[in-house]
Amino acid sequence: MRLRAGLQAKFLSIMGLAFLVVVVLIALLLYRQERIQSEVVGVSRDAMRDSFVESLRRHGEGEVAQLAGSLTNPVYYFDLDAIGELSRAAMTNPGVRYVIVYDNEGNIVHDGSEEIPSYGKRMDDAMAAQVVAARAMHTQWGVNTFDVSAPIKIGQQRLGGVRVGYDLKAMRTYQDGALDKLRQRLDALGRLQLLWVGLLSVGLLALGALMVWLIQSWLVKPIRELADAARAIEDGQFGQFDHVPAAGDHNDEVGDLMRAFGRMSQSLARHDRDIRRMAYTDALTGLANRLAFRESLDQRLLHLRGDGGQLALLFADIDDFKRVNDTLGHDAGDEVLLQFARRIDETVGRIGGELALLARFGGDEFVILVEGRRERNGEARTVASHLAEVLVAELGQPIMVHERQVFLGTSIGVTLYPEDASGATALMKNGDIAMYQAKVAGKNCYRFYSRAMDQAVERRVHLEHELRGAWDRGELSLVYQPVFRLGDGKMVGAEALLRWKHPEQGLIAPSVFIDVAEQSGLIETLGPQVLRAACEDAVSWHDAHPGKDPLFVSVNVSPRQLRSGDLPNVVAACLHETRLPAQHLHLELTETAVIGDETHASNLLSRLRASGVKVWLDDFGTGFSGLSHLRRVPVDGVKIDRSFIADVLRDPDDLALTTAIIAMAHSLGIIVVAEGVEKEGQYAVLRERGCDLAQGYWLGHPVNAQEFLALLG
Ligand code: C2E
Ligand code: MG
Ligand code: MG
Repeated sequence: MRLRAGLQAKFLSIMGLAFLVVVVLIALLLYRQERIQSEVVGVSRDAMRDSFVESLRRHGEGEVAQLAGSLTNPVYYFDLDAIGELSRAAMTNPGVRYVIVYDNEGNIVHDGSEEIPSYGKRMDDAMAAQVVAARAMHTQWGVNTFDVSAPIKIGQQRLGGVRVGYDLKAMRTYQDGALDKLRQRLDALGRLQLLWVGLLSVGLLALGALMVWLIQSWLVKPIRELADAARAIEDGQFGQFDHVPAAGDHNDEVGDLMRAFGRMSQSLARHDRDIRRMAYTDALTGLANRLAFRESLDQRLLHLRGDGGQLALLFADIDDFKRVNDTLGHDAGDEVLLQFARRIDETVGRIGGELALLARFGGDEFVILVEGRRERNGEARTVASHLAEVLVAELGQPIMVHERQVFLGTSIGVTLYPEDASGATALMKNGDIAMYQAKVAGKNCYRFYSRAMDQAVERRVHLEHELRGAWDRGELSLVYQPVFRLGDGKMVGAEALLRWKHPEQGLIAPSVFIDVAEQSGLIETLGPQVLRAACEDAVSWHDAHPGKDPLFVSVNVSPRQLRSGDLPNVVAACLHETRLPAQHLHLELTETAVIGDETHASNLLSRLRASGVKVWLDDFGTGFSGLSHLRRVPVDGVKIDRSFIADVLRDPDDLALTTAIIAMAHSLGIIVVAEGVEKEGQYAVLRERGCDLAQGYWLGHPVNAQEFLALLG
C-alpha cells in the first residue's frame, strides 16, 4: 500500500523540520557563545598578564630605584646595619621574595637577614651573571620570579647594586582568582542565555502547536469533511446530501468552498431526484415502472424475510390488446391503457390495502403487489384472489374509446411469497407463467401459480425450440384427408393436415404443436411452407391424372397468419409459382381468427376471394359467432365442427342445429362441409339434410402424399 501524506502530516513535518532547524541554530549559537566565552577568558588572561607585568615592572623599577638611592650612603660607608634595615624594610613590601645588596664583583653584601649567612659569597643563581653585567636598571623574568636590579652609585662611581626578587606565583594566583570571577560571571550570563533560548524554544513549540491546531480546524477538518461527503455522494449514498458539512462560522475561502459544495450537492440531489423520478415512473400512466417495482419488491422481500410476512404478485395482461392498436390506432391504444390503469389503480386502492403497489411493465402488462399480515395466515392469498376476481370483472366492462365501445378481457396470474418462490426474479417469472396459463385457459380469468405450470412451460419452451428447425430437418410432413361430395359420393378434394414426427417422441398431435407455433410466431414461417407444399401436391395430382376433374386442396390458416395482413400476397405468390389455379385452393380459417376484428378480416377475405381462392370457416359452431355472423363475413363455405356431427344421430338438438346451419348457409349461397363423419348413418342423415361435402374416418383417413396419389388411381 502506498502511504499517503495528508495535509496535516505534511504541515506537521514542515513544522518538525523548522523546529529542527531552530534547534540546530540554537545549538550553533550556544556553541559560538561557548567559544566566545573561552576566547574572552583567554584574551582577558593575556590582557591581565600584560598589564600586571607592566605595572609590576613599573612598580618594581620605582621601588628598586628608590631603594638603590637610599642605599647609596650606607653602602658608601659600608654601614651594614643601615643596609640591613633598608633591606628588611624592602622585604616587607608585598610580593617581595628576596632583597640582595651586592658589590661590583657580584659578591653578596647583604641579603636582609640578621646573620647574613651568604655574606661575601658570589651570587650564583641563573640570573646573577646578567645582573652583575648590567650597568643600568635591569629586569629579568624567571620561572617564578621577577628580578629587578639597579646599580648603587655615588656620582659616576658604581658602588655595587641591589636586586629585588618579586614572587610571580602570588601574582598568578591573584590573576587566576580574577579570571575565575570573570568565568563565573560569564557562566552565569551563559545560563541566563540558555534559559532565554529554552523559553524561546518552548514559545516556538507552543506557536507551532497553535498553528497546527488552527490549520487543523480551519483547513484540514473542513476539507476532510468535504472529502468524506464527496465520497459518500460518489458511493451513491444520496441520502448523504443532507450530511454535507455546514459552512458554519468559516467566514473565509474554506467557508466559500463549503457553501459552494453545499449548493452543488443540493443541485446534484435535485437532478438525482429528477432522474430517479424519470427512471422510476411509467411516462404514459404515471405509475411505477418495472425498475421501481423490482427495487421495492427486493426491499419488501428483505423486510419480509425477517418477520415472516407474506406477499402476493398479480400479473395482469389485457387480452388481445394488440388488436386495439392495430385496428383503432396507437392513440386509442394509449387511451385504453390509461383507462385500464385508472380502473386497476382504483380497484387496488379499494381492495389491496395501503401497502399494495401497482406498476406498469410496459405494453399491456400491469403488476400488483399485495401484502398479507403474518398474524393472519393465508391473508395474501385471500386478498389476491378477491382482488383478481374483482379486477377481471371490472376490466371486462366495456371501455369507451373515441366514441366506440371496446370489449376487452384481462388474464391474471397470481403467485405467492413464500409458497411459490423466495426471490424476486423467480416470483416475477412465476407470475408470468400463471398469467400465461390464464390465457391458455381461455383468457379473461385468473390463475394461481403451481409447480405443474412450470413443467408445462418448460415442455412448451423445449417443444418450441425443437419445432424451429423441424421443417428443414424433414420432420414435418403433410397428410391429406379426402373430401367427398354427398350428392354423388365422388371425391372432390382433400384437406392438408400437418404432421410432426419427432425423432424421439414420435408423432406429436397438431393440437399441441400448432398451438406452440401459433403462440411463438413460428406459424408465420411454417404457414407459407405448408401452403406451398400443398399447392405443389395438388398440381402433381392433376398432372398424374389429367383426364379427371381436378381436385381442390384445402389448407388450414391460423389466426396469426390472417392477422399479419399479407396473407393475400403470400397466397398469390404461391399460386403463381406452383401454377395451381386459384379455384383449386381452399383456405380454412377458424371462427376465432375472424371474430376478433371483423372489419380487418372481411377486408382480407374479400381480397382473397377476389383472386379466386375459396374461403371456408373451420370448426363452425364452436365459437361464439353464431349464424348471424355469416352475413357479415364473406366466406364460401362452413365446416360444421365434428362435435355436432358426432351426436347428430343421438341428440335431436345437434341435428336441429346442423339442419339449421345447412339451411341458413344455403340461403346465403354458402356451401356446407361436415367433418368427422365416422359412421354410415351420419353420412346418410347429412346427405338427406342437403349437406354438400363431407370428410371423416368413415370416408377416408388422412394419408400421406404418396398414398393419396394411389387413392386417385
Ligand atoms: P381441423 O382443421 O378441424 O382438421 C380436422 C381434424 O379432424 C384433423 O385432425 C383430422 O385428422 C380430424 N378428423 C378427420 N376426420 C375425423 C373423424 O372422422 N373423426 C375424428 N375424431 N377426427 C377426424 P388433426 O389432423 O389432428 O388436426 C387438428 C387441427 O390442427 C386441425 O383441425 C387444424 O385446426 C389444425 N391443423 C392441422 N394442420 C394444420 C396446418 O397445416 N395449419 C394450421 N394452421 N392448422 C393445422
Ligand atoms: Mg381444417
Ligand atoms: Mg375442423
